[in-house]
Amino acid sequence: MYANSILAEIGLTLLQPVLKMVEKHFDKYVEFRFYGSLNDFLVPGNRHKSFKRYYFGNPTVKDLIESTGVLHPEVSLILCNGDEVTFGFRPQPFSRIACYPQFHFLPVESLLRIPLARPLKFILDVHLGKLASYLRICGFDTLYSNSFADDEIISISSAQNRVIVTRDKGILRNGKVTYGYFMRSNVPKAQLKELFYEFDMKKDVRPFSRCTYCNGLFEKVTLNDVNSLLKEGTARSYSEFYRCTSCGKVYWIGAHSKNILKIIGEFL
Ligand SMILES: [Zn+2]
Repeated sequence: MYANSILAEIGLTLLQPVLKMVEKHFDKYVEFRFYGSLNDFLVPGNRHKSFKRYYFGNPTVKDLIESTGVLHPEVSLILCNGDEVTFGFRPQPFSRIACYPQFHFLPVESLLRIPLARPLKFILDVHLGKLASYLRICGFDTLYSNSFADDEIISISSAQNRVIVTRDKGILRNGKVTYGYFMRSNVPKAQLKELFYEFDMKKDVRPFSRCTYCNGLFEKVTLNDVNSLLKEGTARSYSEFYRCTSCGKVYWIGAHSKNILKIIGEFL
C-alpha cells in the first residue's frame, strides 16, 4: 500500500515537466492559491504562491483541487473569486480559487462539512498502533486494528463520525471520506503533537479514562474489587485502581502512570 503511494508520488513529481508542456495546450485554466499546511501536498514550485491549473471539460472544484495533489479532507474552506463554494461547484474558466486548511483555534463555519462534536473520535490506519495507545492514554476514543481494510476504515468513519488518521494518501482520496488527516510525521510522539496542533485537542484530554489496549472506558474500583487479580507487591504498594469495563484489565496509579503523565505533559 505504501509502496504504491510512494511510487505514485514519485511518478507525479517526475511527470510535472511533461504535464506542464501538455497542459499549456488546454484552453482553460483556474488560478489556485493554497494556504497553510495544504502546501505540504504541492510540488515545491507551486507552494505558497498562486499558480495556474490548466484543464479541459467542466470539472468540479474538488476534482481540480485533487489534481494538484491536495487531499480534499484537509480542505476546510474554498473561495472562488471571493465567494465560498462547495466541492461540487464547477468554476468558470480563469477563476481565482483560494483553499484553506483547518483554522486552528478559530471556530470558522464552512459549507464543506459539519463540525464534529468534541472530544473528537478517531479511527487509525495500520502502522499507527503506538499513536493509538497515546491517544487512548489521553482519553480519546480511538479505534485501531492492523487488520482494518481501507473500505472498512472509511465506512466506520462515516457511520461513527470518526476522523481517519492515516499515512496512506490513497484512503483520503476516496470521495466517501469526509473527515480525515494525513499524518506527516512517522514518529509516534511527534504524530501525537501534530494531531494536537491540527485539531486543537489539549482541552479535551482526560487521562486515566480509557483502556490503552482495547479503547474501553475505565471504572474506578477498590483494592478489594481487584485484589485477587494483582500480584502481592502491587496490592501492597498502590491505593488507586481502575478497571476497563470492556476487557477487564486492571490499572493502578504508579510509576507507569507517572511516565504517562510525563508524555501528556509534554503536549500541554
Ligand atoms: Zn480494555
